[in-house]
Amino acid sequence: MTEIHDIAIIGGGITGASVAHFLDGRRSVVLLEQESSLGYHSTGRSAAEFTRRFHSEAVGALTRASADFMMSPPGGFAGVDLLRPRGNLVIADAEKADHLRAVFEKERANPPDGASPVRLLSVDRALEMVPFLDRDWVKAAFHDPDCWDVEVESLLQGYARGAKAKGAEIRQSAAVTGARREGDHWLLGTSAGEVRARVVVNAAGGWADPVAGLLGAAPLGIVPHRRTAISVKVPGHDLSRMPEVNEIDEVFYFKPDAGQLMVSPADETPVDPHDAWPEELDIAYAAHYLGECTTLEVTHVAHSWAGLRSFAGDRLPVIGFSGQAEGLFWLAGLGGYGIQTSPAAGQIAAALLTGAEIPASAVAAGVDPAAFSPSRLER
Ligand SMILES: Cc1cc2nc3c(=O)[nH]c(=O)nc-3n(C[C@H](O)[C@H](O)[C@H](O)COP(=O)(O)OP(=O)(O)OC[C@H]3O[C@@H](n4cnc5c(N)ncnc54)[C@H](O)[C@@H]3O)c2cc1C
Repeated sequence: MTEIHDIAIIGGGITGASVAHFLDGRRSVVLLEQESSLGYHSTGRSAAEFTRRFHSEAVGALTRASADFMMSPPGGFAGVDLLRPRGNLVIADAEKADHLRAVFEKERANPPDGASPVRLLSVDRALEMVPFLDRDWVKAAFHDPDCWDVEVESLLQGYARGAKAKGAEIRQSAAVTGARREGDHWLLGTSAGEVRARVVVNAAGGWADPVAGLLGAAPLGIVPHRRTAISVKVPGHDLSRMPEVNEIDEVFYFKPDAGQLMVSPADETPVDPHDAWPEELDIAYAAHYLGECTTLEVTHVAHSWAGLRSFAGDRLPVIGFSGQAEGLFWLAGLGGYGIQTSPAAGQIAAALLTGAEIPASAVAAGVDPAAFSPSRLER
């Protein structure tokens, strides 16, 4: 007799892995990933940042609801701290100095719940933090302490280990290529054989709309946007203690990454879902921005990459059962915050899938799951 799983999750990025982890062990769960390893697409290409500020209300609430898990995961979840303090130095040139001060005043007056205060800095103090900033360019700065580096691979593998410990099966190199309804369940055709499941979770990242199409649901307009990063060597500087640096309107940002400096031109180019690669022009922009606001001479780009940040039209995640296809559950549109919100998104998805209460921590953080319902986008 062929096994009918309770839940099949399509997508082995951080989103699919997190819901697999938070589902209770009473359901039979299978996770299907088309690539030969988990986290190959967006999850493995992020800036690995957890930050409390500069989000919409709803994403801010998801972030607050994720903070406890990130700061103190259950014993044995990961062998390392998932978060390491980094801090964020926000900078502006002469043209935007007044704008930066206005943003600072607004942040100071209305800090997000639980956030530490921001501090306005003199240019001298900003240069103490990041000595290679160019004094001729930086004319205003403030420091936001509430920014951490995330150990993304440990988080991803922790979710996967936890899911397996509860009996979930993880199948890699298993691309879902077709689906049809058979009685009370879905029959999924995959590159590694057929899989049957009563409920299918669409955690396919940039591919969420086409994957929903396989199950007969209309696209919700979840569009992948390419974002580029480069890595450059900065000889003679100890980068380990420097903060992340963000231009006040996030025209660019840079931060230490494995002993080098990761720089992004914060590009957001809508694209079809694909294995993203960087365009020469975006690489050049990244190098240009770094050269402009620092005294560094960027003569060599050690490494460059790009990944997809996938957004619904209103830039909010999509979490909930489809109103169009029976047994289809959306967990997609995690945009530029899928890593940092994965604990709360996974917990909320698991609760909605099993009819359990939304976790008290999410309610206390102000999360309203209705804000993420796919029904807002279904036509
Ligand atoms: C440059 C960059 C910087 C970022 N910085 C941050 C940051 O600092 N903090 C943060 O929180 N977020 C950040 N993000 C966003 C974050 O990376 C994403 O929100 C997150 O990784 C989305 O996870 P996901 O699981 O939804 O997607 P993915 O990781 O892309 O996973 C989806 C998976 O579905 C699989 N799949 C698709 N179709 C099928 C199919 N038919 N069958 C089987 N499998 C399928 C894919 O192979 C893929 O592995 C950044 C993203 C980029 C690109």
